Amino acid sequence: MNAYVTKVYEGLKARNSHESEFLQAAWEILSSLSPVFDKHPEYEKLGLLDRFVEPERIIQFRVPWVDDKGQVQVNRGYRVQFNSAIGPYKGGLRLHPSVNLSVIKFLGFEQILKNSLTGLPIGGGKGGSDFDPKGKSDTEIMHFCQSFMTELYRHVGADVDVPAGDIGVGAREIGYLYGQYKRITGLYTGVLTGKGLTWGGSLARKEATGYGLCYFLGAMLRKAGKTAEGKRVVISGSGNVAIYACQKITQMGGKVVAMSDSNGYVVDENGIDLSVIKQIKEVERGRIYEYAKRVKGAVYTEGCRGIWTVKCDIALPCATQNELDLEGAKALVANGVTAVAEGANMPSTLDATSYFLDNGILFAPAKAANAGGVAVSALEMSQNSQRLSWTFEEVDGKLKGIMENIFAHVDAAAEEYGTPGNNVAGANIAGFLKVADAMVAQGAV
Ligand code: NDP
Repeated sequence: MNAYVTKVYEGLKARNSHESEFLQAAWEILSSLSPVFDKHPEYEKLGLLDRFVEPERIIQFRVPWVDDKGQVQVNRGYRVQFNSAIGPYKGGLRLHPSVNLSVIKFLGFEQILKNSLTGLPIGGGKGGSDFDPKGKSDTEIMHFCQSFMTELYRHVGADVDVPAGDIGVGAREIGYLYGQYKRITGLYTGVLTGKGLTWGGSLARKEATGYGLCYFLGAMLRKAGKTAEGKRVVISGSGNVAIYACQKITQMGGKVVAMSDSNGYVVDENGIDLSVIKQIKEVERGRIYEYAKRVKGAVYTEGCRGIWTVKCDIALPCATQNELDLEGAKALVANGVTAVAEGANMPSTLDATSYFLDNGILFAPAKAANAGGVAVSALEMSQNSQRLSWTFEEVDGKLKGIMENIFAHVDAAAEEYGTPGNNVAGANIAGFLKVADAMVAQGAV
């Protein structure tokens, strides 16, 4: 490992010893950047990596709101503005009880490289709160979102920082956040993406991450002389990313046999009926065990990790970080998996990722494979600036082009830096080089 990279990582570890998710992401990224620093010794004098690992700004704030019983509740809000070298900060907002500064920093750090890979002019950021939307009424969600934006509005803007959705933040939450932003500032601008179609949203944004994942997977399979046609597919999660990954991979000829939520998973050997999943998850906001009650032959199993023991050719982890550990990776490989593409952010643990790579599994890392969501968010920003709306086909066509381009860049970088076929290294290197160029050009800022 390059000495400068080691020194920066050791310093990071000493300063952030309690931030396990951030350190995990940092190690994954920094360890694969070693050959770049071997090739560019001048980066050390420029403190390039020291600057790269340190967020430009961290905003943490109190979010007080009143629940339906009249009780005042308090949550913690965050926005990490990590890197603006190539454009305004861009990245989602996550509402989940597991959110803390480490989680938001890991997501923001990954986001820098992901956004760079899209080829679009967007910097990296992320935000959220430890608020748990589960079991809350619409009114409580609205009160929370309004309070969150009452502080956040002063830090964001269409050319400054443009948040979007993530876990727990869909069209409903973006609506409440946007309404409050507009009310405080009086501005009708593209300050958030993932907006409703009648008020500035982009067609195909809802589908973008799941579809993009499958476009990337398609390109990776094609390079290896394979296709998704007739393959058994397992998808974890049943949220936004999982649902549209299921839709696209089915269109590509795959057969999805299992999906999950945080309580358990369902197996349907006839192929998952997505209309039932959508009804349960998008309309009723219910639990996945309902699927087995409604679809003949489907079987529900309690506990979400068991999903990796279901035999498949292609695995698409689309739920959350560290959901696929070494045990899961071993089960998948033993059952003959040939490709794993990450829809969620950092779903595979470091040892699971190494296991896939060591066993010659085609592996698509999140920051490249799930970049479709942020790519279409950037297209939403373009449409907002132009005051125009593009058709579904136009946006979907651009998304497909972007994902295939990302695969080509990742593949070429892996080859150039001596790790052919390693998309983890390729994605980190290809994403980093563009940001590094911009940081060098802009001086010590
Ligand atoms: P959603 O909130 O829509 O869905 C998350 C899904 O994952 C839910 O079905 C949830 O179940 C399930 N889940 C949570 N924890 C677990 C677990 N431990 N095991 C199994 N299932 C679990 O989120 P998104 O679909 O938007 O996001 C999913 C992932 O994709 C996240 O990592 C996110 O950062 C990433 N991502 C999302 C993008 C987007 O455009 N939405 C863009 C890029 C990345 P339950 O209902 O029980 O909580």
